[in-house]
Amino acid sequence: MKSLSSTAKEKIKLVTINRNLMPLKEAKVSITAPGLSYAALVFEGIRAYWNQEHKQLYIFRLEEHLNRFLNSMKLLKFIDYPNIQSIKSDIISNIQANKYQEDIYIRLQGYIDDWGEMAVRTPVSTSIVSYPRPRAIAFTEGKNFTISSWQRLDDNASPPRIKASANYLNSRLASIQAKESGYDGGIMLGPNGKVSEGPGGCIFLLRNGNLITPNITSGILESITRDSILEISKKIKLKTETRDVDRTELYIADEIFYCGTGQEIMPILSVDKMLAGDGTPGKITKLLQHEFTEIVRGKNSNFENWITSTYKN
Ligand code: PMP
Repeated sequence: MKSLSSTAKEKIKLVTINRNLMPLKEAKVSITAPGLSYAALVFEGIRAYWNQEHKQLYIFRLEEHLNRFLNSMKLLKFIDYPNIQSIKSDIISNIQANKYQEDIYIRLQGYIDDWGEMAVRTPVSTSIVSYPRPRAIAFTEGKNFTISSWQRLDDNASPPRIKASANYLNSRLASIQAKESGYDGGIMLGPNGKVSEGPGGCIFLLRNGNLITPNITSGILESITRDSILEISKKIKLKTETRDVDRTELYIADEIFYCGTGQEIMPILSVDKMLAGDGTPGKITKLLQHEFTEIVRGKNSNFENWITSTYKN
C-alpha cells in the first residue's frame, strides 16, 4: 500500500530552485552540500487555503513565515542569502505556475549548497515545493499522545525557536518512540521538567476556562499557529495564560489540543491514557477550530492582514 506521503509526492508538479521553476525530477542537490552533510538547512511549512467563492488561494501569515525564515538563516549564520521579497514573489509564482485550486502546503528551504566544511556560511540556495494537502482527518477525530522520554532540546544547545532541520532529530526520536509505543505522538518535557512541545506542534490545554500554553522560552518553535490562537482568543475574549506547564496538568486538563501549520488545531483526546475531559474533542477546541477556519479562508475581515492572495482575479 502506498503511504499518504508518497501519493502527495506524485502530485508535485513544478518546484522552484534558486528562482527557477522546474519539474521535480530535474531538481537536484549535490551530495556534498553542507545542507545535507551538516544539516545546514532551515525551512518553513506554510499552508494556503482555497476559497471557492472568491476563486482565491490565500496564503496564511506569509509575512510571519518569511520573517521566521530570515531569523533562522541569521541564527545559523548564513550569509549572502536572497532577499525576502524575492522569496515571497517566488512562492506566489510557484503557486500560479501550478494553478492550484485546492488547499496546499508549501515547503520553503534555505540551505548551504555546493561543498564545504561544517562552518561554511555560503552559498545559500533556496527551494520551494508545493503540493495539495487537505485538512487531516485528525482535525475532527483527534489523537492520543504520551509524554516522551526524550527531552526537548535546549536554546543553549540547538535553538528550538527557529526552524532548523537539525532540530528535527529530537522530534524524530520522540515521534518514532511514541508510535512504536502505540500512541499517535509524544509531548516532550524541557530540561526543567516542564511541558515543552510535540515533535511538530505546540500544546494548549484548558483548565477551569483558562486556555494555557507553555511560554515562548520553554524550548518551543516560535509557532505562528500558537501566536494566531493567542490572538484569536483575545478577540473572542477567552482567558489565556502563557506559563510553565507541569506534566500532570495534562493528565487532569478539561481539553488539550495540538497546533501547527500541518495540524492546524488538532484535539488531543488523551495523554498517557488519561482522558482530556471526556476524551472527545472539547467545546473550546471546536470553537477555536471554527474561528481559525473562517480566518484562513478569508471569511473574517478582522484578520484580513493575515492572508495573502495568490491569484490576480
Ligand atoms: N513546533 C514544532 C517543532 C514544529 O515543527 C511546528 C511546525 N512548524 C510547530 C511547533 C508549529 O509551528 P507553526 O505554527 O509555525 O507551523
